[in-house]
Amino acid sequence: MKLIFEKSAPGRTWVTFPECDVPTEAQIPDRFRRGEPPELPELSELDVVRHFTALSRRNFGVDTNFYPLGSCTMKYNPKCCEEVARYEGFSGLHPLLPQLRLGGMLTQGALQVVYETERLLSEIVGMAEVTMQPLAGAHGELTGAMIIAAYHRAKGNRKTKVIVPDSGHGTNPASAAIAGYRVVSVPSNDRGIMDLDAFGAALDDEVAALMLTSPNTLGLFNPHIPEIAKMIHEVDGLMYCDGANLNATMGKCRPGDIGFDIVHINLHKTFAAPHGGGGPGAGPVGVVKKLSEFLPISLVIKRNDGTYALQYDRPSSVGYIAPFYGNFEVILKTYVYIRLLGREGLIEASEHAVLNANYMMEKLKPFYHFPYGRCMHECILSAEKQLEHGVRALDIAKGLIDRGFHPPTIYFPLIVKEAMMIEPTETESRETLDAFIEAMIELARIAESDPEALHQAPTTTPVSRLDEVAAARNMDLGI
Ligand SMILES: *Cc1c(COP(=O)(O)O)cnc(C)c1O
Repeated sequence: MKLIFEKSAPGRTWVTFPECDVPTEAQIPDRFRRGEPPELPELSELDVVRHFTALSRRNFGVDTNFYPLGSCTMKYNPKCCEEVARYEGFSGLHPLLPQLRLGGMLTQGALQVVYETERLLSEIVGMAEVTMQPLAGAHGELTGAMIIAAYHRAKGNRKTKVIVPDSGHGTNPASAAIAGYRVVSVPSNDRGIMDLDAFGAALDDEVAALMLTSPNTLGLFNPHIPEIAKMIHEVDGLMYCDGANLNATMGKCRPGDIGFDIVHINLHKTFAAPHGGGGPGAGPVGVVKKLSEFLPISLVIKRNDGTYALQYDRPSSVGYIAPFYGNFEVILKTYVYIRLLGREGLIEASEHAVLNANYMMEKLKPFYHFPYGRCMHECILSAEKQLEHGVRALDIAKGLIDRGFHPPTIYFPLIVKEAMMIEPTETESRETLDAFIEAMIELARIAESDPEALHQAPTTTPVSRLDEVAAARNMDLGI
C-alpha cells in the first residue's frame, strides 16, 4: 500500500477557503516563520477517506477477532463503560479545577468516583486502603517496591534483597531493581509453582519482600501462600502480590485474607479498559493497615459533611508517583464495570475466565503437550511434539493468523520450551473457543503432514513472514 505522501498530486485539494480579507503579514515574527511552505500531501477528500479506511481495516483488535494473548487479558470491554467515560462532565474536567467552593460543584462527582472505586477495590482485594495513582501494572509494582523500602527504612531494617520466583512476571524483577533491591530468583518445582525448599534456603534477614505473581505466569495458583507468608513475616519481610490477572480469582479469594501485605491490580486487564498499544492503563496498589501511611499522595477522602477532598497531608508518604489523580478515565470505566456486574457478576467473570482456559486445555490435550495440571485463567502448552517435525511455536502462531486469530503469547514464560500461553478470557462464547480449538487441531495435523506449509505462514496478510531480526533493524513502516 502506498504512503499518503506518495498518493499526493500537486494542486489537488478537498477544500477551498475563501480569500483572506484581513492582513496576514507580520502576525508571526519572521524568526519563527519557515522560508518555504511545508510539503504536505495534496489529495481529494475521497482519496483521504479511502486511504484511512483501508488502513483501519488492517487493524486487528478485540472488536474484530479473537485475541487470546496470554497474560494480557485481551477481553471485550462493554461499550457503555466507554460511553460514560466520554460524558462531557467527566472528559471536560480540568485537573486544576478547585475541589470545593468556587468550582467545587464541578469536581465533587469525579472525586466521588475515585473515592468509591478505591473503596470497592479495597473490598475486592481485602486491603485497608488503595492508591489509585499508578498509571500501569509495572508502575504499581514500582510504587509497591517503594512502599516496601519506606517501611523498612522507617523501622531501621537493613534489607537488601527481594525474592522473585522464576514464574513471576518479567516486570517484577525490574521493579524491585529500580527500587534499589538485589533480585534473588527462586526456581519453580515440577508442578510449576515456587519450590518451597528453595524459597526457604533463599530466605534470610536481608530479604525485604517476596514478589509473587498470583496466579503465576504458568496460570497456576500457589496453594501454599499462607505458609509462605508466615515464613516471610518471620524475618519481617513483606508479601507482595502481583495481582495483574485478578480476573482469575476475583470474588473467590482476596490477597489480603491469605497473607499478602501489598497487591497491585491492573484495571486494564481485570476491569473494563481496553488494553494494548501502550495504554492508557492503571495499576492501583492496595496495602494492609501497617503500610497505609506510606501510600503516595494524593488520596481522596470523604469528609464528615459528605463532601470529597484530596488529601496531601501524609508525612510518611513515598510522595508523588504520578501527576494529578491517576488515569481518571480508566478509574471511571472500572467504576462503571463494577457497578454494572455487581458482586455476583464479578464472581461469575472469574469463573468463566477459568472455565474457558480449562476447556481449551482439555480439548487440545490430545494434540499438544501441556506440562502442568489444571490451570486458572490461562493455559500453557508446549509445541515440543510439533518440534519433532520441525514446526515451532512461532510457525503455529503464524498459521493462526491465516485462520483469523491473534496468536497466543509465545516463548513466554521462558521456563517452558516452545511455550504458547493461551488466555481465552471470560468474554468469549463457546462457539469462538471451538473455532479456535479447531484451528489449533488443524495446525497440529499440518505440522505432521506438511510442516513446510507452516514455515510459509502467514500467506493471507498484507505482510507475509518477516525476517524479524532484519525487520527490527531496518524498520519500514510504509509497506
Ligand atoms: C500485564 C502484567 C504486568 C504489567 O502490567 P503493565 O500494565 O503492562 O505494566 C505485570 N504483571 C503481570 C502478571 C501482568 O500480567
